Amino acid sequence: MRKIKNFVDGEYVEPEGNEKYDVYNPAFGEIIAKVSEARRDEIDRAIDLAYDAQKTWSMVPVTERIKYLFKLENLMWENIDKIAEITTIEHGKTFEESKGDAIRAIQNVESAAAATYHIMGRNNKNIARDIDEELIREPIGVFAIISPFNFPLMIPFWFLPYAIALGNTVIVKPSERTPMSMEFAMDLIKKAGIPKNVVQLVNGGSEAVNYILENEKVNGISFVGSTPVAEYVYKKGTSSGKRVQAGASAKNFVLVMPDADLDANIKNIIGSFYGNAGERCLAGAVLVTFPENHDRVLKIFENEARKLKIGYGMEKDVDMGPLIRKDHLERVKGYIEIGEKEGAKVVLDGRSYKNESYPNGFFLGPTILDNVTPDMTVAREEIFGPVASFLTAQNFDDAIEIINKSKYGNASSIYTRSGKYAREYVQRVKAGNIGVNIGIAAPISFYPFAGMKKSFFGDLHPQGGIDHILFFTDSKVVITKW
Ligand code: NAD
Repeated sequence: MRKIKNFVDGEYVEPEGNEKYDVYNPAFGEIIAKVSEARRDEIDRAIDLAYDAQKTWSMVPVTERIKYLFKLENLMWENIDKIAEITTIEHGKTFEESKGDAIRAIQNVESAAAATYHIMGRNNKNIARDIDEELIREPIGVFAIISPFNFPLMIPFWFLPYAIALGNTVIVKPSERTPMSMEFAMDLIKKAGIPKNVVQLVNGGSEAVNYILENEKVNGISFVGSTPVAEYVYKKGTSSGKRVQAGASAKNFVLVMPDADLDANIKNIIGSFYGNAGERCLAGAVLVTFPENHDRVLKIFENEARKLKIGYGMEKDVDMGPLIRKDHLERVKGYIEIGEKEGAKVVLDGRSYKNESYPNGFFLGPTILDNVTPDMTVAREEIFGPVASFLTAQNFDDAIEIINKSKYGNASSIYTRSGKYAREYVQRVKAGNIGVNIGIAAPISFYPFAGMKKSFFGDLHPQGGIDHILFFTDSKVVITKW
């Protein structure tokens, strides 16, 4: 069985730790590779090499550093189909979804190439008589990137290009469930000529993460994953003086107002709930209507959901792939049962879905729960699957109150023709990414990927924008008198 390799000291290397995790093709339900848990000495060696490399890399002029990004960007475009295929094989999402994932990764490389501008300081002449003052932005050192399974390539690229463009070195620890996309990306990083040990890859799960957290040479951590782990990484990392940004779980509410243009938006609303099989931190989870439009929205939504073609993401015209693992499939089914027990009505039941061509795949059909109330488990907890919970609010204020009671604050969307309600929604809803007539409010690469409450730990968000400059550099102030 193929073993996922690490990428250390400029080469792919066989891992030395115990083979601990299986990588599946979730559509086939078959194991395709093994992942070893990195040993502490393997992690420490990679960090030592990154630490040494950073001293040289930080002295490479930024104008030269970004040239490597241009090369990497070209290589990623040239290899986009290959990358997308790997992502679909290891994750299950459709080829087009994987391609979208890769495009956003590339856009982050493009945005990071503006580092010449990002790293600029500022100065004042004569802040006192004959005294000048200058702020310099300096690279910091070694950063670790720890990512989740659902966007195996894109999420590491929310951080990697910015960190290195600004003169730092990075160690990537991808999800043990989807490590192949980043394993392939290392080949492109090598071909782009990025000097060795500026970017390295180590594999493993929670033990690898703890070795990274315990290493004093790691200055900062960019983490994305579930809330309990994000909170743990944030607390443990910051307690030893590391800077940490940690994206976490979500429960996203989508309000469809009675005046919404359903004809124009229904495909987008369906995509919000069932794209990526619901395994997306921006996925719509709870669809909120009012009593006067509930039946109409439900009917149109159900009609569209029934049209979705489920299957292997490499096959043509497939709209939705399988879930990541059998245990996750069972967990999502468990939530549907809990919903039923707590009083929700199963309008469309994905549990009965069978795929004749791939009988062992981890498939679940699109599911709709109706009569969901705010106190129910399915309205509060992240399900991370293709389950839409329909909830009726009495009016606009009631909807906002329900939405803002959620412990999460990742994303939320409103569908309406009213500028007044749209504006008020943007102002009042406590979520980091807001969509107006857009169900998946994914910020473009040069905007931060925001997140509030238990959906984000830290101050400075992923992707480009001002946040990445502050996260990946330190300020130094120089006061001069001649
Ligand atoms: P996860 O928390 O299980 O794993 C994330 C990373 O943490 C992996 O690299 C994993 O190896 C590591 N890890 C897991 N358990 C650990 C432990 N006990 N100690 C230390 N490290 C540990 O998350 P996942 O299931 O891979 O990803 C799905 C979750 O990520 C969902 O909750 C989703 O909402 C969230 N997510 C959030 C965003 C965002 O931007 N806010 C984006 C994507 C996904």
